Amino acid sequence: MLLLWLGRDRVTVLSSISLPVVAVPLDPLKPAAGRSAVASSGVACGTVSPPSPLMAQYWAIKDQYSDCLLFYRMGDFYELFFDDAVKAAAALDIALTKRGKHEGADIPMAGVPVHSHEGYVARLIRAGFKVAVCEQTEDPAQARKRGAKAVVAREVVRVITAGTLTEDSLLDARRPNVLAALAETGGGIGLAWLDITSGALTTEAPALPDLASVLARIEPCELLCAESWLQRPPFTSAADDWQARLTPLPAGRLDEQAGRRRLCELYGVAALDGFGVFVPAEVAAAGALVEYVHLTQKGRLPRIAPPSRQPRGAVMEIDAATRRNLELVRALDGERRGSLLAVIDRTLTGAGARLLLERLSAPSTSRQEIDARLDAVQWFAEDDATRGEVRGRLRRCPDLQRAQARLSLGRGGPRDLAAIRDGLAVASELRAVVSSTAAAGASGAPAALAGMLQGLGEHQALVERLEVALAAELPVAARDGSFVAAGFRAELDDFRRLRDEGRSLIAALQARYVEETGIAALKIRHNGVLGYFVEVPVKHTSRLPLAPDGPFVLRQSMAGAQRYATAELADLEARIGRAADEALVVELAVFEELAALVAEQADGIGTAAHALAALDLVSALAEVAVAGAWTRPLLDDSRDLHVQAGRHPVVEAALVEAGGGPFVGNDLTLDESRRIWLLTGPNMAGKSTFLRQNALIAVLAQAGSFVPAASARLGVVDRLFSRVGAADDLARGRSTFMVEMVETAAILNQAGPRALVILDEIGRGTATFDGLSIAWAVVEHLHEVNQCRALFATHYHELTALAAMLSSLACHSMRVKEWRGEVVFLHEVVPGAADRSYGIHVARLAGLPAVAIERAEEVLATLSSGEQSSAVTRLAHDLPLFAAAERRAARTAPLPASPSLLEERLLDLDPDALTPRQALDLLYELKNLR
Ligand code: ADP
Ligand code: MG
Repeated sequence: MLLLWLGRDRVTVLSSISLPVVAVPLDPLKPAAGRSAVASSGVACGTVSPPSPLMAQYWAIKDQYSDCLLFYRMGDFYELFFDDAVKAAAALDIALTKRGKHEGADIPMAGVPVHSHEGYVARLIRAGFKVAVCEQTEDPAQARKRGAKAVVAREVVRVITAGTLTEDSLLDARRPNVLAALAETGGGIGLAWLDITSGALTTEAPALPDLASVLARIEPCELLCAESWLQRPPFTSAADDWQARLTPLPAGRLDEQAGRRRLCELYGVAALDGFGVFVPAEVAAAGALVEYVHLTQKGRLPRIAPPSRQPRGAVMEIDAATRRNLELVRALDGERRGSLLAVIDRTLTGAGARLLLERLSAPSTSRQEIDARLDAVQWFAEDDATRGEVRGRLRRCPDLQRAQARLSLGRGGPRDLAAIRDGLAVASELRAVVSSTAAAGASGAPAALAGMLQGLGEHQALVERLEVALAAELPVAARDGSFVAAGFRAELDDFRRLRDEGRSLIAALQARYVEETGIAALKIRHNGVLGYFVEVPVKHTSRLPLAPDGPFVLRQSMAGAQRYATAELADLEARIGRAADEALVVELAVFEELAALVAEQADGIGTAAHALAALDLVSALAEVAVAGAWTRPLLDDSRDLHVQAGRHPVVEAALVEAGGGPFVGNDLTLDESRRIWLLTGPNMAGKSTFLRQNALIAVLAQAGSFVPAASARLGVVDRLFSRVGAADDLARGRSTFMVEMVETAAILNQAGPRALVILDEIGRGTATFDGLSIAWAVVEHLHEVNQCRALFATHYHELTALAAMLSSLACHSMRVKEWRGEVVFLHEVVPGAADRSYGIHVARLAGLPAVAIERAEEVLATLSSGEQSSAVTRLAHDLPLFAAAERRAARTAPLPASPSLLEERLLDLDPDALTPRQALDLLYELKNLR
């Protein structure tokens, strides 16, 4: 399919199928110095002519935005030239055309229509580009006044980068969009991050070894850092996952002094001390961040709340591998589906969903804070009616934060004003509902809830103002007009009346012309080129009094009709146009007034938006808790972790969805005398599930949620580690065993006494003895050196011998029932060690050929008896696989001379021809034949 776009000055071919990209020589691009030399001297060498004024303007602008694709506005299109055009055409799969010549070579060009550019921008941003949007800042008519060759003035009005998006179409409504900056000064590193749509600015000064896990928690969409850092090893390894999102800045832009000045200016303060004690690198990072937003937004700034400092250790540190492993906010395939977040997310607003994601990514380590959050969840969990009412209202709540951000950046429209109106209206309704319930209750509202209620604030005046100002139907952009309600502004009503009267006067004029000419088919119509005109079918035109005798002047001849102008019509048209123009001027002024009103109350609105998100979050968590019969966890200062009948929410949900059996709840008791559990049992018995569910319970509890268990008590966890043996990481080009060991090393080096460590079959990725030895040493190290809480699942049941030596090690296993040679998994964790691995049983279940199974049993028997290495040597010389097969054949070959009844019956039955019912009957029959 081909799409033709008719622009003012050309036709562009856009295609939804792949078009071959035309290769165009790009030489004119390269010698930047040569370019300006030609431009300034005007001396052309050989056949090369000086650049056109348009190209000169293009280059003057492009040179300032060399790291961006320049969207250069020309009429109804944004055009890209030279290298930008080649890149964009390839990334967007649009045609690469050419326009004129530059220094003797064709200029490659690609363009996107202005009216649909957002979709293209979104794709370019996702592909890792930045886009500088360059608009025409004057009317072409104005430019012509300066001379026939004058170029329309243009200016970059915004730089669109991944971290500074505000449009709903470019953002995921349920994920925060975080812009972060990293600086190093004064001997430390500092991070600052900001979601420009919520205005929350946070800083932290992590230790360098923790940088990678802090970045994994923040998940920046764009990360600013000094150019000089790009080659520095400790940084490059920490930022490995973020390569595609880095925006390198000259080191001078990440300077403490400049940063401090920038922040003081932003908040109108003389010193930052009032906001907290920041290390120099945090100030540098936060300052650079604000400056970057300022530059990309061309001087405008969204509301940015004063920086809040996150002290080291304030949140549970979870490194990237653990996050991936536990599938907290993304499943292993990178999708939301299948993650913990997806299973527990019952929030109803985008802001609520974003807050939930933040909390799950950064569970708190402060008992007070966790308890306060849990109080609020409990309050809602215990009151179904209020929860229902609150959630009913939240359903109607628009995204206040993002609307506010767009308005503050001058990018908002009437619908954003409506979102502010509706969001604040919901806020006051919620305030009324919740406070009246709280007042009626015995104990009132818990502190966290009271804080939210206060945050919702009082915005009656603004809501009322917006209610009377805005019409019922609203356009996206203010310049489309018709969004101010009738009766709001007398002046506007007058212009509208004139405009509408004009329209009815035109109808009257048409009636009069019909009467005067006697041509019933005469019509007054309108189009974009001619404006208003009189249209008469060709067969009647002879009856029309033409100028100079009559009023009708021919404008256009069509196949079946002629179009005419009249002085009267032109008059009316001018009147309508003037009235419409003036109406629009008034509307735009009203828009600015309302936006200014919103801006005046920015802080209050921001606080209300956050309170709405928090209410959404706690009521949604209460909803999950009630629906899944979850309980409130008890936090304390011990180093225990007690869980009764704990469940894995994601596995449980999957079982329910698949209509599988019920999830078997399992207990866990970690305390000073049993700090480490060694869990043995066959594959598929539920070891991994059990390990992870306990880690998830800790995450959920500290995120402020109830947990899937009959009861849970835990001493706050400061760091969580989870590793799976032999996990594939081919994408990053490391051998699986290497990954396993690198990750294990990180744990043994970092886990302190408050850490919780989950090790799932570590040592699996190498030869048996190696693996066993490593696993052995790791358990000892955790027990003796790290002294942290740990769960270690292994199929090396030999490890259970360690229990005799290590006082705080307890052995548990997955209960398995053997029934007529088959293994049945009960998914139950019981004290004691598994005496065997049952690997061969699982292999049989998986359908390995009987010969192979039999051979495996033989090998196992040999290995289990006597000294293993010599047994292995013996095995290598002995009993090859085919020997077992031969023996098996020999055993079964000589059939008795006269087969038994049973054998006869067996010989002539055809299993494929049996129905299940017949097969069952046959079984009974065979049993009787014995
Ligand atoms: P292992 O790590 O021992 O090989 P998994 O933890 O991967 O076993 O569990 C295998 C499967 O068993 C899971 O996918 C799940 O379907 C089922 N399962 C595990 N634990 C339970 C449980 N407690 N209750 C019910 N089914 C379970
Ligand atoms: Mg497993």
